[in-house]
Parts: sequence; structure tokens; C-alpha cells
Amino acid sequence: MHLRYSYRIYPPVGQRAALARTFGCARVVYNDALAARKEARKARQPYPRSAEQLPEVPAEVGIDLGLTTYAVLSDGTVIDNPRFLRKAERKLKAAQRELSRKAKGSKNRAKARRKVAKTHAKVADTRMDWLHKQTTRIIRETQALYLEDLNVRGLARGRLAKSVHDVGWATFRRLLEEKVARYGRHVGIVHRAFPSSQLCSDCGHRDGPKPLAVREWACTGCGVLHDRDLNAARNILAAGQADRLNAPGGPASPGVAIPRQARPVERGTHLGDLRTTGVRAAGAGGIPRLRPGEDVKE
Ligand SMILES: [Zn+2]
Repeated sequence: MHLRYSYRIYPPVGQRAALARTFGCARVVYNDALAARKEARKARQPYPRSAEQLPEVPAEVGIDLGLTTYAVLSDGTVIDNPRFLRKAERKLKAAQRELSRKAKGSKNRAKARRKVAKTHAKVADTRMDWLHKQTTRIIRETQALYLEDLNVRGLARGRLAKSVHDVGWATFRRLLEEKVARYGRHVGIVHRAFPSSQLCSDCGHRDGPKPLAVREWACTGCGVLHDRDLNAARNILAAGQADRLNAPGGPASPGVAIPRQARPVERGTHLGDLRTTGVRAAGAGGIPRLRPGEDVKE
């Protein structure tokens, strides 16, 4: 006879974070194993028995995160911002209006609440999928990567809150770090005071802060015309490589962020020209979540 018990657990915040990390790692391993099997089948080779380390590649990249584009890599790769939430926004607003019109305690209200929760859950799933694809691709193609230490928490509290939640930088970085650990790659975090968008990546001249709308600028030192984000990504690469060389133990040790300047954060430089609207980010107060037993695909 088979017996099955269902339990519902209420982990506190710390445990929730630990569980999320564990599930994240499990998912990375599972998806990668699945991809390896698919590739083997395509190449008519036997299924791999255990996960293999990725072959070493010569590439190193700096990554500039933004909102007009999701990220620009120092090798010129541009990752466009998918803006999942914005696309789903209209649908979500309609669902929320519907919900607010239903009488409290009514069956229709419960139904409307599930609809709002489902829309949010779908957006979160799609975003996670997309983040996994992007981070896996970057890890496969690069041996070492360097990121800026953005104050994601601080940004998420401010005026840009929804956009910051929408792009999921914190998750992007966490996934990169997990995959770096798993595949023996390197990730270095460049100090957030580093003026990545003020320096000329060609001659090192410090050109000064630029208004947000400036997407291209000519260096007053050497005259080279820069794409703002690409130039920043190149600076992040150079700073990350320098930090790594200067770190105790040299390049073999994990990335250590070394403050290069004791200057204040360059506020909002990469955040582009976005506007925020009234809908709160997924998971924020006031938005119903799916309850156990409620399925997105219902
Ligand atoms: Zn220059």
C-alpha cells in the first residue's frame, strides 16, 4: 500500500532564502544535465553519465547593467531588456480593477484574486526562465566575468523600484555566481564607487559625469566616440582584471572588490530614461500570491 502525506510549511525569512538558494542550485544542475542529454542525443552520442566541467575558453568580459538595454558586454554583445512586467501590466491592471469591484467574501472575488495571482506567477516564471538562459550562455562563453556592485536594494526602494524588480538584477547576479562556482569560472565584483561611465576606456581620461540622456559621447582627451554602455562595460572589465591581479594570491584567488576611489556612488547613471507607473512589483504588499494547490496552468 502506498501512503502519501502532504505538509504545508511556513519557513521564516532566513530559511526561505536558504531553501530558495538550494532549489536554485538544484534547478541549475537539472537544467544543465537536461541540456547535455539533449545535445548528446542530437549528436547521436551516448547520454553523459555525470556532469562535466565546461571547457576553458579564452574570453573575459565586463558587464554593464542598464534598463534601456538589459546589459551590454565589453565584447559588444547587447542583451535587450525583455520588460516582461510591462507587457503583462495592462492585463494585470484590468485583473486588479476586476478584483476591486468584487464584494468582499464573495466567490467571484476569490476567483478574481486567483487571476491576479496567476498573472504575477506567470511573469515570474517567464523572467526566471529568461534569466537562466542568459546567465548560462554567458557562463559557457566566458572564463571570467566582471560586474559592478550595484546597490540593488537601495535602488529597489527608490523611484525606480518597479523597473528594478522587473529586470531582476539581484537574481541575475546570484545565478551568475552559482554557475561560476559550479563550472569553475571566475566572477569579480567591481566596487560601486568606480566611475565606469566617466572614464574613457581608450585613453583613461576622466571625462566627468554625463546626463542620463547621453548615450554617446566623445572623449575630450583623445576624441574617440563612445557608446555609453559599451565604454562602461570595457572599464568594468579593465577594473575587474586589475582588482584580480592585485588581489592577495593573484588571479588564482576568487574575485575581491577593491575600492578604487573614495567617491560617492554615481547615482542612477545606468538607469536610463525610464518612467515608473503605479503598479507595484510582484510580491510587494497588496498583490495576491498563488496559494498551495493553485496552479498557474489552471
Ligand atoms: Zn579618451
